[in-house]
Amino acid sequence: MSAVFIISAPSGSGKSTLVRELLPNDPQLVFSISYTTRAPRGQERPGVSYRYISREEFIARKDRGEFLEWAEVVGNFYGTHESVWIEAREAGKDLLLDIDVQGAQQLKEKIPDAVTIFVLAPSREILEQRLRARSEDSEQVIARRLLAAAEEIRNYHRYDYVVVNDQVTEAVETLRAILRAERVRRQRMEDRIRPILATFGESL
Ligand code: ADP
Ligand code: 5GP
Repeated sequence: MSAVFIISAPSGSGKSTLVRELLPNDPQLVFSISYTTRAPRGQERPGVSYRYISREEFIARKDRGEFLEWAEVVGNFYGTHESVWIEAREAGKDLLLDIDVQGAQQLKEKIPDAVTIFVLAPSREILEQRLRARSEDSEQVIARRLLAAAEEIRNYHRYDYVVVNDQVTEAVETLRAILRAERVRRQRMEDRIRPILATFGESL
């Protein structure tokens, strides 16, 4: 049974960095590529980080009910297409989503056993430093992101896990530990258990 992992964090906390470290070493995991109306940033490539579309196209897709969840974040639309979850399930893979707090709530209603993880930078000061170090946003956008961060952080209590991203290596290890433990929850083990039980015969 496929698992769904949702990671949320204020922009600049290091979520993309952690996901980038996590994915290549976990072939069971597929990343949900979202649709967005924002412009590509830095090294981002269309179809890898996001699928970049116009506001008109986004609204048309939303109105057709194509998104499992969607939200407006700092003036741009972001959404998860329903096909990502269907395709992950069909391929027997686990799905990893990097979505905001509003989207996480919408998805949790549709997929109640989704595992939710909140990533935090160690402090506001460090978050600000990381946003500046990334040097991809204007001063005005950084100020908006910091305001949005204060609002988003209030929602940490809605999440199953909280990971403080101080050192990348340690935070990635913690994420791996969460995924590993969640994957062996009894409910997700039914398909593995049945053939094992069968080897013990009909009596079990
Ligand atoms: P997000 O995806 O959450 O918006 P990024 O992954 O783009 O954040 O990280 C923001 C900036 O912080 C990047 O320049 C990244 O290299 C840096 N960064 C991420 N994690 C750490 C960390 N643990 N220590 C120091 N810098 C980090
Ligand atoms: P960024 O512009 O920094 O890549 O992302 C801004 C915010 O949008 C982040 O909090 C990110 O998690 C969120 N986000 C990215 N894709 C989606 C999505 O498909 N749905 C929702 N709800 N949020 C998303």
